[in-house]
Parts: sequence; structure tokens; C-alpha cells
Amino acid sequence: LDSRFCSRHHLSTAAEIDSSEPSAEKYEYQAEVSRLMDLIVHSLYSNKEVFLRELISNASDALDKLRYLSVTQSELLRDGVDLDIRIQTDKDNGIITLTDSGIGMTRQELVDCLGTIAQSGTAKFFKALKDSKESGADSNLIGQFGVGFYSAFLVSDKVVVSTKSPKSEKQYVWEGESNASSYTIREETDPNKLIPRGTRITLYLKRDDKDFSHPERIEKLIKNYSQFVSFPIYTWQEKG
Ligand code: ADP
Ligand code: MG
Repeated sequence: LDSRFCSRHHLSTAAEIDSSEPSAEKYEYQAEVSRLMDLIVHSLYSNKEVFLRELISNASDALDKLRYLSVTQSELLRDGVDLDIRIQTDKDNGIITLTDSGIGMTRQELVDCLGTIAQSGTAKFFKALKDSKESGADSNLIGQFGVGFYSAFLVSDKVVVSTKSPKSEKQYVWEGESNASSYTIREETDPNKLIPRGTRITLYLKRDDKDFSHPERIEKLIKNYSQFVSFPIYTWQEKG
């Protein structure tokens, strides 16, 4: 598994990382990412629900990548885990958890994919967003310009990404908060949180956005998007 899946890895300005360090390490976002997150939160305020489409489409991409690689590397599916997406809601605590059994990310990929962004892409996004101010096409722009993940901060105070790549023996946790200029990465140490492969994203919803963790609300949104996804999407609720 030599190929890198984050198309932006070559643009990374991240420093060398000591992958033998088990404790949480703090990283600064590339300046463009901070600007972009600001921009997303302020411009897409009225289209907040796009976060779910973006996260489901990332999960679907990750499953596609795994399925594609498994054609030549059948050992990738040897764990017997199905290719699917699971979405759990906890309305009492305002938490949504999306789990996919896709390709996952290594520690380096977490830095490259969730901490940096192509500058040219950002510039294009800024311009397109400005142009769309009159046409009201904002909601399509984040997907189009590949900044989908950050839309999680439209509705979340905190986002936690726990992920396991077949390329890595360890599972890593990326943690970011809205309006922050840095994020952390640490090794997953809680045995209850280990996954065989793939990615689990936990959204701690903002006070005013906790509605999204209500089963009726989320299921309606999922129904809208799931018809475009070729993997099963299962939902369930945390019992209070
Ligand atoms: P895009 O999907 O257009 O590349 P995103 O901001 O949505 O942009 O995601 C950035 C990158 O983060 C993806 O390209 C992928 O490499 C990585 N990523 C995001 N979500 C996942 C996931 N669920 N599984 C594996 N990799 C992911
Ligand atoms: Mg995406």
C-alpha cells in the first residue's frame, strides 16, 4: 500500500513527525485552512446540513478506495468486516458518530489530509464563493472544491476522528475544535474504541445545532443522500 490517498499530500508543509511518540501532539493548521474554516462557517451558515452529505461522501470514497485496492490485495478484506457506513445519534448529549469500514488514514495522512489544503484550491474556492453570493450556490461549493471535511465545524464545537489504516499497526485520533488554530493527534489507547479498519468521526454538536442528533432529523437527511451512495448506511440511537 504505497499510494497516498490524500491528493494534497505533496502540498503539505507539515514538519517531520516522530511516529514513535504515543502521547498527544499539537499541530498548527496551515494558515489557509484556518481561513477556510472561518469562511465555511460564515458563508454556509444557512446550509449547515451539508456537513452530513460531506461526511457520508468521504466515508463512501474511503470504502471505494478499499474495495478498489482489495481487487489486487485480497488480504485487505481478510478481517471479514463488511463495507458499510454506520451513523449513531445520541440526542441527549448532542452527539453524532459516523463510522465507515473504509481505507482509514495513517498518522501522516491525518496531518496531510485534515491539516493542510492546496493553496490554489483555496484561492479558487474563495473566488467561487464570492461569485456565488448572488446566485446562492454556496452549498455546492464546498464539495466541489474538496474542503468537505471542515464543514463538520458548521455544526460542531469539537470533532474527533479515530482512524485505522491497513498501512499502520496503530489507530490514531485527530481532535479539533471550532475557532481553534491547532489540532492534536494521539494514539487510540481505549481498547473499547479500537476498530479493525476505517474511520470513526464523532461530532460534538454546538448548542444551537443539537437538533441534528434527533433521529427523525438525521434520518430524513440520510435518506436524501443515501440514494447516491453505493454502500449500506445503518442508523441507530443511543438509548438514554
Ligand atoms: P475531498 O473529499 O474532496 O478530498 P475532504 O475535505 O472532504 O476533501 O476530505 C479531505 C481528505 O481527508 C480526503 O481526501 C481523504 O484523504 C481524507 N478523509 C476524509 N474523510 C475520510 C474518511 N472517512 N476515511 C478516510 N479518509 C478520509
Ligand atoms: Mg470530501
